[in-house]
Amino acid sequence: MSVKVVKFGGSSLADADHFRQVARIIRDDPTRRYVVPSAPGKREKGDTKVTDLLYQCYELIKAHEPREVIDAAYDRITDRYNAIIADLGLTFDLSGELEYVKNAMLHSSGRDYAASRGEYLNALILAKYLDYDFVDAENVIFFKENGTLDEERTNDALAEELSRTPHAVIPGFYGAMPNGTIKTFSRGGSDITGSIVARAIKADLYENWTDVSGFMMADPRIVKDPLIIQEITYRELRELSYMGATVLHEDAVFPVRTAGIPINIRNTNRPSDPGTMIVAHPTSYDSETVITGIAGKKGFSVLTIEKDLMNAEIGFGRKVLEVFEDNDISFEHLPSGIDTMSVVVSSSVLEGRRDRLMQSISRAVRPDSVFIEDNLALVAVVGRGMIKAKGTAARVCDALARADVNIRMIDQGSSELNIIVGISEDEYEAAVKAIYAEFVG
Ligand code: ASP
Repeated sequence: MSVKVVKFGGSSLADADHFRQVARIIRDDPTRRYVVPSAPGKREKGDTKVTDLLYQCYELIKAHEPREVIDAAYDRITDRYNAIIADLGLTFDLSGELEYVKNAMLHSSGRDYAASRGEYLNALILAKYLDYDFVDAENVIFFKENGTLDEERTNDALAEELSRTPHAVIPGFYGAMPNGTIKTFSRGGSDITGSIVARAIKADLYENWTDVSGFMMADPRIVKDPLIIQEITYRELRELSYMGATVLHEDAVFPVRTAGIPINIRNTNRPSDPGTMIVAHPTSYDSETVITGIAGKKGFSVLTIEKDLMNAEIGFGRKVLEVFEDNDISFEHLPSGIDTMSVVVSSSVLEGRRDRLMQSISRAVRPDSVFIEDNLALVAVVGRGMIKAKGTAARVCDALARADVNIRMIDQGSSELNIIVGISEDEYEAAVKAIYAEFVG
């Protein structure tokens, strides 16, 4: 029988109504056998996620705030869980667990321990509600001494533990260090847990349930009601996420990608929407739109070096990049001309290092000129369909010209999977709109 691992984000488990909806989704498909929940998220705008309440509580304890202040902060957490239990009509007493967690926090159990309890407690409730087994992540997700995931140990433990139960809830976001202390992934890390579980049990599909119906083709804050991407490859996704499109934690891709397991992004509030399928090998590409998505970011700087006959100078590029290396600066793109070389970096990394960098470059390659321009935004137009379609770059340039956006840099990835344009930050929104309109309408 096929197996699905289903991960539900915080907004999908924010209150009892959402728990009911989650249970309906799980019961609707008997192959949804392993469930990875986040901690309860925001119920409405302005609400606070339980994970944030736990961090706050931890800070108050660390700052030796008076006991009543700490109690009041912890009560907000207790209230969230108790409201869910009461509203679901569960005869389940979580008070012992809540008390234990509080005591542990008061006795310096650490920041990660505190944060992880959001998922832990939520998973206990969900397991009870679904009548699934509870498998604590601290017994199946292991980190190495250096803080990276111990893949082998984790895979073995998960495969072994889950082979013993047909249905289980495994809290997301955390695991155990070699000495048994709790460590969390970075924020949003339950996505990673889901992916790790899917790989360990060789799932057929990893469903990631959230509050949107998949990846949008462009940022909805810029483009009104952008289309949802139906199918995207892992490589396209990587390009779009790198450029700031978020729905899924970036590190969640690697475990399932190597195992060839697709991810399906789904909307808990609209379960009949098909969502976005993230696959290794596409079954199709959208010949109508050619592109898969558009993403971008502000806050880049470009350092340009000009020197006549640069192209004939052996080792020129290496010397330039060595200066970046020596200054501990990583670069994003390297668009080059015959006698110019540009290095695009995130502006933040230049802070306090500009003069030294320019001087070092002058010394290393004796350029005719070297200068830095700031306020650059990058827009990535991504799509596997671009390999087959002619004139995509021309269409991007035309669309930008019509919108009166000046292109300061253009870089077509050699994989033909993306075209990246550099424009002035204040033209960023106009650029995204223009490109979307050109390809989607
Ligand atoms: N609850 C954690 C967070 O808020 C992890 C997650 O939701 O994936 O970051």
